[in-house]
Amino acid sequence: MGKEWTTENSAELYGINQWGQGYFRINEKGNVAIYPLQNSQRQIDLFELTEDLKDRGIRVPIMIRFTDIIRARIELINQCFLKAMQDHGYNGLYRGVYPIKVNQQHQLVEELVRYGRNYGLGLECGSKPELLVVLAMATAPDALIICNGFKDAEYIETAMLSQKLGRNTIIVVDRFDELKMIITAAKKLQTRPKIGFRSKLNTQGAGKWVDSSGARSKFGLTSIEIVEGVELLQKEGLLDCLELMHFHIGSQIPSIQAIKSSLKEGGRFYTELYRTGATGLKYIDVGGGLGVDYDGTGSSDSSMNYSEQEYANDIVSVLQSLCDENKIPHPTIVTESGRFLVAHHSVLVFNVTGVNDLHRYDLPRPIKKDDPQLLQDLQYIYEKVNSENLNECFNDLVQIKQEALQLFVYGVLSLKHRAEAEAMSWAIATKMIAIAKTNPHEFEDIYKDLEQEICDTYFCNFSVFQSVPDSWAVGQLFPVMPLHYLNEKPERSATLADLTCDSDGKIEKFIDTESGGYRKTLSMHSLNGKSNYYVGVFMTGAYQEILGDLHNLFGDTDAVHVSLTDAGYTIDQYVPGDTVTEVLSYVQYSRSNLIEQVRQATEQSILKGTLTKQEAKLLMKHYEEGLSGYTYLEEAE
Ligand SMILES: *Cc1c(COP(=O)(O)O)cnc(C)c1O
Repeated sequence: MGKEWTTENSAELYGINQWGQGYFRINEKGNVAIYPLQNSQRQIDLFELTEDLKDRGIRVPIMIRFTDIIRARIELINQCFLKAMQDHGYNGLYRGVYPIKVNQQHQLVEELVRYGRNYGLGLECGSKPELLVVLAMATAPDALIICNGFKDAEYIETAMLSQKLGRNTIIVVDRFDELKMIITAAKKLQTRPKIGFRSKLNTQGAGKWVDSSGARSKFGLTSIEIVEGVELLQKEGLLDCLELMHFHIGSQIPSIQAIKSSLKEGGRFYTELYRTGATGLKYIDVGGGLGVDYDGTGSSDSSMNYSEQEYANDIVSVLQSLCDENKIPHPTIVTESGRFLVAHHSVLVFNVTGVNDLHRYDLPRPIKKDDPQLLQDLQYIYEKVNSENLNECFNDLVQIKQEALQLFVYGVLSLKHRAEAEAMSWAIATKMIAIAKTNPHEFEDIYKDLEQEICDTYFCNFSVFQSVPDSWAVGQLFPVMPLHYLNEKPERSATLADLTCDSDGKIEKFIDTESGGYRKTLSMHSLNGKSNYYVGVFMTGAYQEILGDLHNLFGDTDAVHVSLTDAGYTIDQYVPGDTVTEVLSYVQYSRSNLIEQVRQATEQSILKGTLTKQEAKLLMKHYEEGLSGYTYLEEAE
């Protein structure tokens, strides 16, 4: 008997103490627990919470949002900048701005605004619809409203008029044409607008979204356009309206070096403009890009090689030295961190509905002399394989499997023999994996190949396309792990398949704490004897919900907002997921028409005698209940 499996082993296996950042840990019961205040002992047991929510009629899959984490993240970034500014003797202020495109969900934006009030947290919009949302929010009076994205005259005039509501709205010129529109609107409305310039940096970002930066990026003014823009403003007597210099080098920047280089270039735009007469400048907006650590490695595109404190220190110190060299006042530093503020706060929880169970660990039966040669060969490999000849046997196995397929297609191998060959291949692969494990370094390739081949598929009650679209679209990694049984050893390796009929509808990229890279399978517990088995996908708060689509007509999941109370926790909000009727209405089907059409079909069948009246009644009952129901699998009452 080996040593007993403990929660520490699970923590190591899933890497939760690294990516969890103190917000997520395994508790003494062997369940995942949320510590919303990071370093306090107050926890919410995620498994118990899930059961508790189900008792209240809330359905899996559930998006659970932890409000306290939002507050903690806002405080964290503000404290980091405050500390950096104090340590360096920086004379300006820090102002955060939340770009609502990262997650526009109404209650979430309200929570951000509420918790951000004391810190003057502002909002950023990147389109006309987003501007309309932002203007309706009760941000603090001195909080910034930053207007980015493509603009027309209506967008610009609305933003300008909002100044008269007491909003601190800054219109950022993303394309040169917009500057002309701003000047026209300023004359028409007799207003002195607050203007920002977005500069196109030559410094490239880094990471997965690197193409959104650099000289060919979609937005921003070139240095030629900036020089011309200043001249134009001067001619119009509006140069003092230029208050903000903006740049954004992309999202989830993994390297602090890329951030520093962009600051040096972006900071130079600021100091040059100020020196040459744009003395109305008082904000430098360094955009988003502050990363979060999805895999805990500190070295991949899904991670970052710096802390939030280092990020703040570097921004403050680079800008301070640039300004001091040029003897200009220290500007207010603005960041547009979205992912950093909201990624951690939500967790998707779903149940496993089944597993493809191949009995494959043992040989099916002894092979006899009159069996096909191919089966004899497989038997031979099974008996002889060892660590000395593993490579050779592996290659033989691959070849025999191809032969088996060909012989079947040509009508030589019967279905029964093909099935036996397959079962023997599984048994051999299982044995080979055990051998490869004894020397993981030498046999890494074989191990990875075989592990993926013989892994289980766990069928899960969720849609990748709706709830974690970046996992599918850009191969982003999210931490995934079971919520309970973490004091038992997970004996299975699995990929997670979703409910869509799409073969891409699965998660196949998992943290590998041993190699620091990725695994294609996740360690899971056997389902035997378990009435439910829950899995969590963590850090889904940024970008996922809003990019999610209705593939196969799976709609929004149920969502709840949970916050700590003295007695434990409370459910602040319940946002029911889409009903089938709602999802169908997005593609123009009307409930009443659908019902009427099916009813008429039952009427005709009753006339033809193929359907009884009772059957028709039952069919219509299921049909109507189905339309009112959840788009995901529901448990029988
Ligand atoms: C998307 C975007 C952001 C948010 O970036 P994060 O990496 O999520 O912080 C900030 N600013 C602009 C202009 C953006 O387009």
